[in-house]
Amino acid sequence: MSEKLFAQHKAERLQFRTVVQCPHCGFKVTEKMPVSRKVVVFHCPGCNEYSHVSESECCIFCQYARHACPEKQQQSLHAET
Ligand SMILES: [Zn+2]
Ligand SMILES: [Zn+2]
Repeated sequence: MSEKLFAQHKAERLQFRTVVQCPHCGFKVTEKMPVSRKVVVFHCPGCNEYSHVSESECCIFCQYARHACPEKQQQSLHAET
């Protein structure tokens, strides 16, 4: 993703950090969400389990985190207007 596009994302006040909750033990981890790739595996430092994203979900953030990933956030922003 280009710097310009990244600045545009910032202007739209998207969340790039979120809290992911482990589905195994409930441990909460603050994670930075990358904008250029989808994160499909979450490694929990609490129980050491790996959580894979469901086929119906976009990424671990959309499935387990407080916020959807930046890409989905942007889609919903645009859907509202
Ligand atoms: Zn865990
Ligand atoms: Zn997502």
